[in-house]
Order: sequence, then structure tokens, then C-alpha cells
Amino acid sequence: MDKKSLKINTQNLSEENFLKWEKVQENLKENFGSQIYSSWLKNIKLLKEYNHYVILGVQTRFFRDWITSRYADKILDEIKKHKMSIDRIAFEIQEDKSDNKAIFSKTLDSNISDIKDSVLNYNRLNPNLNFDNFVLGESNKLAYVSAQKICTQLSRYNPLFIYGGVGLGKTHLINSIGLKLQENNNVMFISAERFMYQFIKSIKKNEMVNFKDFFRKANVFIIDDIQFIRGKEGLQEEFFHTFNSLFDKSSQIIISSDRAPNKLDRVQDRIKSRLSGGLVVDIGTPDYELKLKILKKKITEFENTFKEYPNLNEEVIEYLAKDSNSNIRELIGVFNRIVAFSKMSKKQLNVNDCKIILKDVYRSSKIITIEKIQNVTSNFYSINLQEMLSQRRSRPLARPRQIAMFLAKKLTTRSLPEIGRKFANRDHTTVIHAVKTIDRICQNNDEIRKNVEEIKSIILSD
Ligand code: ADP
Ligand code: MG
Repeated sequence: MDKKSLKINTQNLSEENFLKWEKVQENLKENFGSQIYSSWLKNIKLLKEYNHYVILGVQTRFFRDWITSRYADKILDEIKKHKMSIDRIAFEIQEDKSDNKAIFSKTLDSNISDIKDSVLNYNRLNPNLNFDNFVLGESNKLAYVSAQKICTQLSRYNPLFIYGGVGLGKTHLINSIGLKLQENNNVMFISAERFMYQFIKSIKKNEMVNFKDFFRKANVFIIDDIQFIRGKEGLQEEFFHTFNSLFDKSSQIIISSDRAPNKLDRVQDRIKSRLSGGLVVDIGTPDYELKLKILKKKITEFENTFKEYPNLNEEVIEYLAKDSNSNIRELIGVFNRIVAFSKMSKKQLNVNDCKIILKDVYRSSKIITIEKIQNVTSNFYSINLQEMLSQRRSRPLARPRQIAMFLAKKLTTRSLPEIGRKFANRDHTTVIHAVKTIDRICQNNDEIRKNVEEIKSIILSD
């Protein structure tokens, strides 16, 4: 790799991708005041950091329960301010050290025991995400069947590429593959973000030889969230070589991504072509039946864990499954919240109670994406989304396009170049022009102003 791309890469990484726990603690102290902070929050430790969640250590079970019931939401909010991608926190009780250690060493496969601790920490498979508790539906059946097939016929489909939107079960599925194959193979499981972290660290410490050896030793290599390599040239270079050397020795490669290989913009073509060279399957958004099945499964799990029924009637369960969640992670979050409330209020909640409880959740956690803005806008004007994004300049397409760009600027925190890229790779100056144009038109043209307001309220409300 040449020096130049390395340099860019190192800058890209900076330390900003990793949670600065001291900073989070400082903010918690400011928010809660020093008394609560020193009684409850000061001793919380950041044990592990993954892409989407962190594990925090607390001293006792009592501390955990207290903190979860009172401060968990706020802690998560603070964490999100520093690292947007985190949407879950888990607590681990540290009182009984010997016990924890036992679990820890058991999870680590002896096949990989000669690898450095720092890497191992991120190479742990989550024992709770397995095939047994993966609920099947129309939207994930193909991905599930493919994942199972991989386990019985190693390297028949290589690589296996699973893609789909957030919270639809990609990590769950590829983790299940890892667990299953771990019994007889040397499995490496890492997120693309961690891969980069290790990569940069090795460069800085002059340990690239070790790095290469380490990752190429696996005969099953699972990499989560590959979209992370977009725009990172040096990383792509290294990934390409890792991929090839694994592939050449017939190691099974399994990849997850939030989009299809050909949609991975700012990724080298040769990589895209490698990624789509095996079996590509997607996980779609869950339908009502799948959501219902997942909720029922959660209820059973709850019963088994707590030996009590979570006091939800059929109507509420159906309501939760019907509601607009298209994301399983969110669905589970909503379920947990409703159960917590019903336990606290000690009554059986009805649908109306749920609506009130969930209102806050939706308002505070709704993340507005550019895709959503584009969808709502094109629907509003009854035009085809692809046409709206196309290069055609006719007014019935250009105006909605500009409105969508305008709203992307107003309603998201995306930068102008990022917005431009999402609009079929337009330049940021085009976005600036759109924002100015719509701003101006809104001042003079009542009809368009009303349209913009209406689109905005649809985006915000659902
Ligand atoms: P992704 O990686 O696609 O963003 P995850 O695999 O992290 O999504 O899934 C989000 C949450 O939803 C996890 O808690 C996961 O266990 C759960 N989940 C997703 N799909 C299923 C499923 N089919 N059955 C059971 N749980 C699921
Ligand atoms: Mg994931």
C-alpha cells in the first residue's frame, strides 16, 4: 500500500470512532449533580464496546437494578451524543470475579488462544444470538436457509453476503453461523470497524506482519457491517488482500452489510465484484406475522427467566406487532419498555396506555434518514423515486428533488456533500442551490410552502 493512502486512512480513523467514556462520565456528572453521580454512576466501568452496544460493569446486582430503572435511558442518551451508532447498553455485574472469568475463558475457543487479548475482546461471539432463538418469517427465510447451508457445506457458497436494513437480524444471523461453526473450526468474527481499528493499531506499532498472519489464520472469517469500509481507501486495500488470501485457501467468508454489494458506493469495483461472487441474500423488513412471532418468543423468554407472565393481553401484543416498527431491534425495545411499565404500574395495560408510553420513545429516538425523506417526498408527489433522483431536469421531477434536498438539510445532521451523494452523487453545490431555491420559493409561494410543511409533518409523525 502506498504511503499516501495510509495517511488518509489514519486520519479517517482518528479516535472519534471509539467512545470516550471519561467524557460521558463528565456529562453524567453535570446532568445528575455530584451527589447522584458519586453514589451511583461514578463506578460504572466501560467493559466492552461494540458497534451498536456497550457493556458496562457495575459492582452488584442491586446497583444494576437501580441504575437500570432510573438512569439507563439517560446514560444511553449521553453515550449516543458521543457515538451515534450505539443503541443499547448492557450491564455486567462484576462482584464475583472468579465466576466471570470462568464464563469468559469458556467462550474463547482454544483454537484461537494464541492471539492477543486485545483482539480477542472483539472476537467474542455472543452466545445469545444463535439459530435456536432466531425466529423465521418470510422476510428472513432465504437468509436463514443460506446461513444454515453454509454450516453444513463449508465454502460451497463463498462468500456468503447477507444484507438488509438496521435491526433486521444480520448480526444475529452471522453470529449464529459463527457459534455453530466454532465447534470445529477456527472462527474469526469481527466488525469492519474493529478490523480497521486493529489495522491502524498494527500500522502504528509496526506490527503489520502479525496483523496479516492473525486474520489469515481463520478458516471461517465473519465480518460484520462491511459498509464501514466505504470511502476508506487504505482499509479497502488491506481488506482486499485479506479477502483474497482467505479465499485462495478456501476459508469460508461471511459478510454482512446494510446494502447490496453493487450499492456500496465509494468501494473499489474489484472488491464489490469479489463480494458478489458467492451467494448474496437479503433480509427484508418483517411482516406482521413475524413481528407477532418474535413478541411471543420474547414473552416465553420472559416467562422462563422471571417465572411470571408479563401481563400483556392479546390486544396489546397485536397492537405492538401492527405498529409502524419495521425494525426488530426497535420492536424488542418497545416490548421491553411496555413490560417494564406494566410491572411498575402493576396493572394490565391496554392499547391506549401503550400509545401514551410509546409516544415518548418514538419522539425521542426517531432518527430521520435521507432515504425516508426521499420516500415520503416522492410518494407525496406520486412520482417514482428513481426518477426523482435521476438527472432529468423537468420541473415535476426537479422541484420535488429540491424539496427533498432542502428537507434533508433541515431535518438531518448530514453534511452537504453527504446529502449530495445520496441524491445520485450530486455535488454539494447543487444541494446548496436547492436549499436556497426552496427557501426563497417558500416565502413567495403559498402552495409550495404548504406542501413542504405537509411533507415535513408526515416525515416527523410516522
Ligand atoms: P442488524 O445487525 O441487522 O442491525 P441485529 O442482528 O443486531 O440487527 O438484530 C437486532 C435485534 O433484533 C437483536 O436483538 C436480535 O437478536 C433481534 N432479532 C432480529 N431478527 C430476529 C429474529 N428473526 N428472531 C429473533 N430475534 C431477532
Ligand atoms: Mg448489526
